[in-house]
Amino acid sequence: MAERRERERLRQVDAAMAAHPTLPREAVVKEDLLRGGVAFSAAALELAAAGKRKAYFIFSFDLVPLADMAGREHWSAPEEIWLEGGPWGFRPTVVSVRLNPNSPYRVEVDEGRAVLRLEGEMLCEVKLPPTPAYYTRALANGKRVNEIAPTIEWGYLIYLTVFRICQYFGKSEECQFCDINENYRQQVQAGRPYTGVKSVEEILEALAIIAETGAETRAYTITGGSITSQLKGQREAEFYAQYAAAIEQRFPGRWIGKMVTQALPKEEARRFKNAGIQIYHPNYEVWDAELFRQICPGKARYVGREEWHQRILDAAEIFGPAYVIPNFVGGIEMAQPYGFRTVEEAIASTAAGLRFFMSHGVAPRFTTWCPEPLTPLGQANPQGAPLEYHLRLLETWRDTHAHYGLPTPPGYGDPGAGRAVFSVSSFMDVIAPDAPLPPAPNGPGSAAQAAPATVRN
Ligand code: SF4
Repeated sequence: MAERRERERLRQVDAAMAAHPTLPREAVVKEDLLRGGVAFSAAALELAAAGKRKAYFIFSFDLVPLADMAGREHWSAPEEIWLEGGPWGFRPTVVSVRLNPNSPYRVEVDEGRAVLRLEGEMLCEVKLPPTPAYYTRALANGKRVNEIAPTIEWGYLIYLTVFRICQYFGKSEECQFCDINENYRQQVQAGRPYTGVKSVEEILEALAIIAETGAETRAYTITGGSITSQLKGQREAEFYAQYAAAIEQRFPGRWIGKMVTQALPKEEARRFKNAGIQIYHPNYEVWDAELFRQICPGKARYVGREEWHQRILDAAEIFGPAYVIPNFVGGIEMAQPYGFRTVEEAIASTAAGLRFFMSHGVAPRFTTWCPEPLTPLGQANPQGAPLEYHLRLLETWRDTHAHYGLPTPPGYGDPGAGRAVFSVSSFMDVIAPDAPLPPAPNGPGSAAQAAPATVRN
């Protein structure tokens, strides 16, 4: 009986591949890993610990709290895994690691090499990320570069969470899928060095070390929690813009600068452009009006859905439509008690949002929902959204993007299966490798070309 149950997941994945023949097989497994997490054997953790470990760069992105990780996985697990080969002949595919000791997917060690198994069946080989030279270095104040300026997407992106807390606080304000505040608490409790507010000086020092080592990083993201009042006497735009201004002054055009904040009024968003930011991510999280109100109560109350969307379109006038890339969280449309009950309805709603933005030349992107257990939606929906939803979303995003003839979103490296490095969803894996390139960004900061680049090692 147990045997039959175990085989069931493998059969489901196999059937999903057959039902979605236009999706890369690698993307099917990638989405399944992102929605449900992956386990590691003790030997695999030992191997991973010698490489680049999970830095908890903003959220936990795990399916169990740190306190419940009996194998202390959170200290040794890799930031990402690289899938390749195996019976399905996978092309290189980079997947963010979301820990779940109970997952049927396990990374194990076979004759000294890491492999991915599903219910005991070998799926493919696994490459673990090597430790970049800058990860072993420390700042003058003793903090490690991997805490201040960790890198993801196989080294492509430097992720600068400069404020690790969100001022939307508690159940009536926090986005119901987001564990930024809970994760901060659990990391501090677990004893991980975890700076609440990173100083501009720390960021510059860490970036100088990264630049000095000649690392192939191509972009940086500045982000953190929302600032609804002030932080250190500054409002949200002023606070986050100061980091971009300092980076661009010290390292002009060295990286593609990206900013993730709330959708801010036009003149405030312009501060980012003037500071040298090329790409703006005012994330709208979920399209449906009622779901936005229920799932993002703080954003709904402080800004409002229609105003949020208008600000996204206004930002396109400043940055250029291709350079405004709002994120949504793929899967929360189906989270109970608020969400749609059928994949059909959820996809119809998400598609309406894609058409709205893409018809204006703005291509949203998505991260695959990880039902984090310290969030209301994660607690109520430990299984997340069905795999079928995630696969339909990939097809819908790909087809809508192609329908409007939009370019490859800039700032993510090369598109296409076997080349994409974006690790928290497969949207880059399903774009045709020969899709048109984005136009050069306009205005200040345009000296730095958003040239696609592949980071491989
Ligand atoms: S605004 Fe929402 S998603 Fe963003 S950090 Fe705050 S709670 Fe999380």
